[in-house]
Amino acid sequence: MAVTGSDLHVAKEFLIKGELVAIPTETVYGLAGNALNEKAVLSIFEAKNRPAFDPLIIHTDSIEKAAIYVADIPEKARVLADRFWPGPLTLLLPKKDIVPDLVTSGLDTVAVRIPNHPLTLELLSQLSFPLAAPSANPFGYISPTKPEHVEKQLGDRIPYILDGGECEVGIESTILGFENDETIVYRLGGLDINEIESLIGPVVLMPHSTSDPKAPGMLKSHYAPRKPLHLYRRDEIVPGDAETGYLMFDKYLEGADRKYQRLLSPNRDLKEAAHNLFAYLRELDALPVSEIKAELVPSSGLGLAINDRLQRASVPA
Ligand code: AMP
Ligand code: MG
Repeated sequence: MAVTGSDLHVAKEFLIKGELVAIPTETVYGLAGNALNEKAVLSIFEAKNRPAFDPLIIHTDSIEKAAIYVADIPEKARVLADRFWPGPLTLLLPKKDIVPDLVTSGLDTVAVRIPNHPLTLELLSQLSFPLAAPSANPFGYISPTKPEHVEKQLGDRIPYILDGGECEVGIESTILGFENDETIVYRLGGLDINEIESLIGPVVLMPHSTSDPKAPGMLKSHYAPRKPLHLYRRDEIVPGDAETGYLMFDKYLEGADRKYQRLLSPNRDLKEAAHNLFAYLRELDALPVSEIKAELVPSSGLGLAINDRLQRASVPA
């Protein structure tokens, strides 16, 4: 069974031995291993039951260290890195040979991020290798935003969970790639797209595919609770039978039991809504309900990423 604690030395020793440690970040908890050690990377895929065609993000604590693993940092990428790192930004950059193909699922780009969490930044600064870390959840299920989420689902598969409290942002990083002068958004996430566009000009949104290995990260069904999830606009949502859970944006639904409702943000704050999203989905999933009804949030800024997660969570696996 995993031990949960905040001892960096212990975390470091496991990682050096090639074992896995769950690490806190500002987005979600990651399942980390030495990105340069193929055995460690393989065990990440195994522990999560993640298909080998879905590549991993590598984490470092400085742009200088990131440069060891990538062949080039285009100007737009550098502008974004300077502004948003450490933070919920992942950049797809041409990889150097030192990064195992297993990490990138054979692609010639590697996903790189500097996460913004003091414990994990300190851990990374003490390591001589980057950490490959996908979200610390079984593949396809809701991402973990608290140590106990990791404990419940992967506790019997890893030795240590580094406890850094609740994840501040609560949804995954925004993933951007650069092709022929275009900036492509591979995954909406913790950054506001408007803010990105104000720095580097217009970006292109990549549509989701079903299971096309050439377009990883874009799986249609993901982040899903076990119970069926149905999405509604506020004016469409009506109470179901007694065995229904409700994920509402700012106000309770009249005529339905409040015990079975969660409000993402009573103040209509999209940051707060993102922070609560996955934890509340888990809570609703654990209630004695047979389905979950969720209200879509306003689709601007972070709301785009929240609705993206809700949409994918509502597609049966
Ligand atoms: P996770 O860390 O669980 O949030 O998953 C990492 C995400 O990054 C997945 O959606 C991957 O498909 C995506 N990703 C990682 N590397 C690449 C890459 N080289 N090209 C496109 N997407 C990537
Ligand atoms: Mg994930």
